[in-house]
Amino acid sequence: MIQTEGLMYRYAGGPELQFPDVSVPQGGVLLLRGPSGSGKSTWLALAAGLLGASAGAMVVAGQPLSALKNMAVDAWRAKTIGFLPQRLHLSTALTVHDNLGLAQWAAGQPLHEGDITRALSALGVSELAGRKPAQLSGGQAQRVALARAVLLQPKVILADEPTASLDDEAARASAELLQATARQHGATLVIATHDARVSAFFADQAGLQSLQLLRKQL
Ligand code: ADP
Ligand code: MG
Repeated sequence: MIQTEGLMYRYAGGPELQFPDVSVPQGGVLLLRGPSGSGKSTWLALAAGLLGASAGAMVVAGQPLSALKNMAVDAWRAKTIGFLPQRLHLSTALTVHDNLGLAQWAAGQPLHEGDITRALSALGVSELAGRKPAQLSGGQAQRVALARAVLLQPKVILADEPTASLDDEAARASAELLQATARQHGATLVIATHDARVSAFFADQAGLQSLQLLRKQL
């Protein structure tokens, strides 16, 4: 579940972004649409507790974010949010397997081989476990990053422009995979995108919500 009311963010020396209110039920899908510079990545950073709102309220998976103390926010994020960043941020020095192990470690979890095996298998990339990120195709790297994102059973999956550099077939596969993965975990899915192919893919889905952001004239 995600709810916002009067949400706003102002960058120091930058634009003030005002976001329309949303209310997305747990397990729902939200498309965050709008041109480059309209605030999609900023909204995702607010939802992940990476930025604090300048004004307004945001509740994510039952947690009012303004009530989270600085210390608590990292632990909350680790157990609540699965993030698929635009640049995937896989560690180039580590194998696919160890990238997932690192994610467990960074979240303060003991290494749990079973979870790693299961996550890689669910995304169809078990056979890539021993490879380094440089030895993966774009689509494969995204599957690995998604496996990492859902490793800790997040309640919310945030994906930033997941189809931006993909051809039509891979873009469709990526949207399908995000939807299937979110369903499997009962997670709320937010996709930030200005890709019409993603909107088309989700167009006829019941319960889909769409938030249209506009670029502010400066
Ligand atoms: P989108 O993801 O839709 O392209 P962003 O959320 O990245 O949009 O950016 C929204 C606006 O905030 C843009 O005008 C951008 O230039 C500005 N912005 C983003 N990050 C910063 C920052 N760190 N400092 C100042 N302005 C920023
Ligand atoms: Mg962006």
